[in-house]
Amino acid sequence: MAQVTCSFCGRNKKDVDLMVSGISAHICNYCIEQAFQILGEEDKTKKQSKKPKFKLKKPKELTAYLGEYVIGQQEAKKVLTVAVYNHYKRLGQKEEKDDDVKIEKSNIIMVGDTGTGKTYLAKTLAKTLEVPFCIADATVLTEAGYVGEDVESILTRLLQAADYNVEAAERGIVYIDELDKIARKSDNPSITRDVSGEGVQQAMLKLLEGTVVNVPPQGGRKHPDQKMISVNTENILFICGGAFDGIGRHIAGRLNTQPMGFSKKSTGTEVIDRTNLLQYVTAQDLKAYGLIPELIGRLPVITHLDPLDKATLKRILTEPKNALTKQYVKLLAMEDVTLTFEESGIDFIVEKAVEFNLGARGLRSICEAIITDAMYELPSEEGEQNLVINLEYASSQFEKSKFKKLQVA
Ligand code: ADP
Repeated sequence: MAQVTCSFCGRNKKDVDLMVSGISAHICNYCIEQAFQILGEEDKTKKQSKKPKFKLKKPKELTAYLGEYVIGQQEAKKVLTVAVYNHYKRLGQKEEKDDDVKIEKSNIIMVGDTGTGKTYLAKTLAKTLEVPFCIADATVLTEAGYVGEDVESILTRLLQAADYNVEAAERGIVYIDELDKIARKSDNPSITRDVSGEGVQQAMLKLLEGTVVNVPPQGGRKHPDQKMISVNTENILFICGGAFDGIGRHIAGRLNTQPMGFSKKSTGTEVIDRTNLLQYVTAQDLKAYGLIPELIGRLPVITHLDPLDKATLKRILTEPKNALTKQYVKLLAMEDVTLTFEESGIDFIVEKAVEFNLGARGLRSICEAIITDAMYELPSEEGEQNLVINLEYASSQFEKSKFKKLQVA
C-alpha cells in the first residue's frame, strides 16, 4: 500500500500526530495548525483595515489649510479645528473599554452675520475631512406631524454622504445652518404652539446628545410602510451656525448691566468694542434670543465670526486659492482674453459691497455686474484681447447695472 504523506509539507504519516484525509489529499496536524494561524492573521488584518484609519491632522495644520480659502476668522478657525481634531481622537478612544475617562463630544455653535463665511468654513473643512459630512438647513425643519421636514431628515443627508454606510455615518460631522431661525418667537413659551420654533428645538435635543434614530433613507416624511435605517448619533459631531440678527442688543444689554463689582471697566483696563459685539456672545445671550437652555447645553462650544471690513473684503476678493478675481481671469483666459484687475477697480468693488451691505456674498454680484458685458462681447471677437478693470471701467459698467437702479430707488 502506498505511503500516506501530507500533501502540504510531505511529512510521512508515522512522523506526525494526526493526518486528516480528504478525497485525494491529506493534511497533517502541523499544517492544520499553521493554516489556522494564517486564517487568524488574515481575519485580524481584515478587521484592522475596516477600522477607520485617520491621518490625524493637527489643529494648526487644519487651520493652515483653511487659511488658503477662508480669510480671517481666526477665532472660529481655532475652535472648529480643535473640535474636529478632538472628534477624531474620540473616535480613536472607542476601543479602550477599561478606561473610565470617556471623552465626550463638544458640539459647536457659530454666531456670525450672514455672508461672513460660516457655511464656507464648514464646507472647506469638509474637504479635508475623512469622515462623512453634510450641511442641513434648520429653516425647513418642523415639529413631527407638521408640514415640513422631520428633524431626522438631517441624518438622511449624512447617510447619503456616507453612501449609506451606517457605520461611517455614525462617525460623521453635520453642519446645521440657520439655527437662529428655530429660535422661540415669543418670550412666553405657552401662548401658542410654536411649530417651527421651540418644537423643533425639543426634537433636536435627542439628536444632538446621542440616541438611536430611525432615519427614512430617502428623506421626506416618515410613513408606516417605509423601511427605516437606525443611526446612532452618539459619535456624530454637530456644528450649528446662525446669523442671530439682533442678538447684539442682548449682548449690549448684558454688558451694560454687569454688576459694577465684576466689571473690569472700573479699573479702566477693558474697553468694549461696540463695532463687534458678537465677540462677547455667551450662552446667556443665545437664551435671551430664544434658544431653549437644554439645546444650548448640548452645544457647549460657542464661537463667533467677525464682521468683514473693507480690508478683509479686499483680501477675500484677491487672496484665497479660488479668489473671485482669479476665477474671472481663468474664465476669460479660455477665450484668449487677458484680464487684469487694477487696485482702483478692486477698491471700487469692495466699496460697493460695503455700501450695499452685502458682505462677501455681494462681491460676486458686483463683479458680475461689471464684467458681464465683456463676457458677452469678447468671445465673439477675433484674436487676443485685453481687459483691464480699473476705477473708470468698473464705475461706468456699474452705472449701467441694476445695482444703480436699486440705489436710485
Ligand atoms: P454665511 O456666513 O451666511 O454662511 P457663507 O459662508 O455662505 O456665509 O459666505 C458666502 C460666500 O462669501 C462664500 O461662498 C465665500 O465665497 C465668501 N466668503 C465669506 N466669508 C469669507 C471669508 N472669510 N474668506 C473667504 N471667502 C469668504
